[in-house]
Amino acid sequence: MRQSQLFTKARREAPADEVSKNAQLLVRAGFVHKEMAGVYSYLPLGRRVLEKIERVVREEMDAVGGQEIRMATLHPSEPWKQTGAWDSVDVVFKLMSRTEKEYTVGQSEEEIVTPIAREYLTSYKDLPVAIYQIGQKYRDELRAKSGIMRGREFTMKDMYSFHETQEDFDRFYAEVKEAYLKIYSRLGLIAKATEASGGAFTTKLSYEFMVLTDAGEDDILYCNHCSYCVNAEISDQKEGNACTRCNAGELSRAKASEVGNIFDLGTKYAKDFSFTYKDREGKDQLPIMGCFGIGISRLMGVIAETFGDEKGLVWSLSVAPFAVHLVSLGKGDDEISKVAEALYVDLQKAGVEVLYDDRDLRAGEKFAESDLLGIPKRVIVGREAVASGVFEVVDRATGKVEKKSREALLAPSA
Ligand code: ATP
Ligand code: MG
Repeated sequence: MRQSQLFTKARREAPADEVSKNAQLLVRAGFVHKEMAGVYSYLPLGRRVLEKIERVVREEMDAVGGQEIRMATLHPSEPWKQTGAWDSVDVVFKLMSRTEKEYTVGQSEEEIVTPIAREYLTSYKDLPVAIYQIGQKYRDELRAKSGIMRGREFTMKDMYSFHETQEDFDRFYAEVKEAYLKIYSRLGLIAKATEASGGAFTTKLSYEFMVLTDAGEDDILYCNHCSYCVNAEISDQKEGNACTRCNAGELSRAKASEVGNIFDLGTKYAKDFSFTYKDREGKDQLPIMGCFGIGISRLMGVIAETFGDEKGLVWSLSVAPFAVHLVSLGKGDDEISKVAEALYVDLQKAGVEVLYDDRDLRAGEKFAESDLLGIPKRVIVGREAVASGVFEVVDRATGKVEKKSREALLAPSA
């Protein structure tokens, strides 16, 4: 894409109404636009990042057999009253139509997916099934000060699974746990699976996936030797305690952000919606249900917090809006511009996602903005490129500078 065509522009100043690093950088760089506290629109660059994250999540959910659907976000109030969530879940938005009918907007989707599943899953032969979606969620959150990390509207991947036996649920649960760890690592993050109580849903154990960041709202205790990790809020353990799992390490305390969680819902929702299937003996049975969430837009915030530096955002290739920022130092129709134009066309032909800064601005201004946008590689087209066919390539994360020929830039592995 040509930067001269991009309708968003980077700003020099941080927005005065944002306190969190992720929102300050994302607003300044023109990735998101704030509508009100906790509600953001995603602009071309931001939307591309969200879609990259969604793609990774989708691939891994498809790999464990998830079937993607798109559920309604405007819900009737009845199923929410049926499960009790209408009165017991504090973040449920309540809307009233002009004919005084009550509605809500999805804050989670058990109330919608369970009746859908009941309609089709009638026999043990239909199980197991995992259904997921990637979509908007709405929550009446009291505090929304962490930029896109805690929204009143946000993007979530939520998957729901239905099983015949506890053993089958446990098998799937373990598979999804591994898939989650794979997702976070593909996004360049180190996530710890913490043991937590089941929160609003159940008293059974669940896992929360935590990324260490000072911008997080959770406190965790984790072992410096093994993978043991627990939410400090529910634990009677303290920093400095010996790890009870491996007996070799010691517990450290850190701030973290919850980027996903997985729950055993048992038969709660099947009971609420009288959802039974016929077992092998023809008897009615309640399926065991699981739910598996990932905060897609929160992940984008966590990545901005984790890798952003004093110059701006830093994206890894798996989530970057573009792979290459091609920065031309030419003006108008000069030699430099011609070389840059040709390289832009060739890079696109080679399948490289490239943002081409073809604007007539000073080099210093272009470089500062390029640093702010955080695209992994910057390819500079200056006089040297015209004279000797050599391009300067700057790695955004490390600042390392390399000289490359046109052929090297177009090679598949470049
Ligand atoms: P939290 O404790 O942070 O409020 P939660 O326990 O309410 O999270 P879930 O209802 O299980 O979260 O939602 C699944 C995932 O969606 C969470 O792990 C988190 O990554 C993300 N998420 C939850 N609430 C928000 C929010 N208000 N804004 C952005 N992402 C959110
Ligand atoms: Mg919550």
